[in-house]
Amino acid sequence: MIMSPLRWTRSLQLTLAIIKPDAVAHPIISDAVHQRILDNKFLIVRSRELQWRAKDCQHFYEEHAGRFFYQRLVEFMSSGPVRAYILAHEDAIQLWRKIMGPTKVYRSRITAPDTIRGHLGLTDTRNTTHGSDSVESACREISIFFPDFDVSRWYEEQEPLYRAGP
Ligand code: UDP
Repeated sequence: MIMSPLRWTRSLQLTLAIIKPDAVAHPIISDAVHQRILDNKFLIVRSRELQWRAKDCQHFYEEHAGRFFYQRLVEFMSSGPVRAYILAHEDAIQLWRKIMGPTKVYRSRITAPDTIRGHLGLTDTRNTTHGSDSVESACREISIFFPDFDVSRWYEEQEPLYRAGP
């Protein structure tokens, strides 16, 4: 039995979070994002830092291919190391997206200044963090960043260990 200080009464959900190159390049920023993860009591299931190639970014962001920001996004995301996390929480996908804030920096700064992007985002592209937007995209994105991680097996074997007892 894993003795974790983090215990939940509802079942856990997984999401993929990324700290983007603008933040990884500045430890004070990436540490602030990491602290948000801890403050919001996410379970860090896996994390890794890696340098993406342009073709990895193209694959990851293929739903945006052809949009006006796509090329800029691919260049940015392959410009330096990123840090990826598999995070678990009762409402991991929505909670992480709420903590990140809106995509566009003018919106995040004005309407959500306390979010990560509102506080730390530089531009619409250099907006500090990524978070999966659905259960399907979380599974897809986790498999891209953590090809050895078996989502189904984690739910079967690990997730029950974090449930609060009766
Ligand atoms: N993006 C951009 N310009 C835009 C919209 C999006 O550069 O006008 C970038 C930004 O880095 C964003 C990513 O493309 O995080 C993916 O866009 P999406 O609409 O999926 O936003 P997200 O889910 O990241 O909030």
